[in-house]
Amino acid sequence: MCIFCKIVNGEIPNKTILEDEKFLAFEDISPATKVHVLVIPKDHYTSFDVVPPKIMAGMTEFIQKVASKLNLREDGYRLITNIGEHGGQVVHHLHFHILGGEYVGRLVGDKIKE
Ligand code: AMP
Ligand code: ZN
Repeated sequence: MCIFCKIVNGEIPNKTILEDEKFLAFEDISPATKVHVLVIPKDHYTSFDVVPPKIMAGMTEFIQKVASKLNLREDGYRLITNIGEHGGQVVHHLHFHILGGEYVGRLVGDKIKE
């Protein structure tokens, strides 16, 4: 069983931010920014590349709720999902990184424009 499935079934502890029947948001163990939260579906999908769009509809709503709970919506935040080898994905259970609580840099914008 994958590490995030173990988090879902309680085998590995987590610091939960928000949870419902289908999704879980918890703190990243190694935060890259002041706020760094992971959002996962409780069902196992390897990555965004294979998740049914219907699941993503629910996940979108859930992520917005998490951003509200973390008070990120006014100042903004970054949402990232890494996919496969070239995407740098380490844990092969779909997850979105919510990064915020401070200015998190330009990333893609920097690469394209500067
Ligand atoms: P990715 O590179 O997108 O696959 O990111 C995996 C993320 O999972 C990394 O940011 C890790 O810090 C995080 N992570 C790994 N194990 C745990 C854990 N047990 N609890 C919380 N976050 C974790
Ligand atoms: Zn899993």
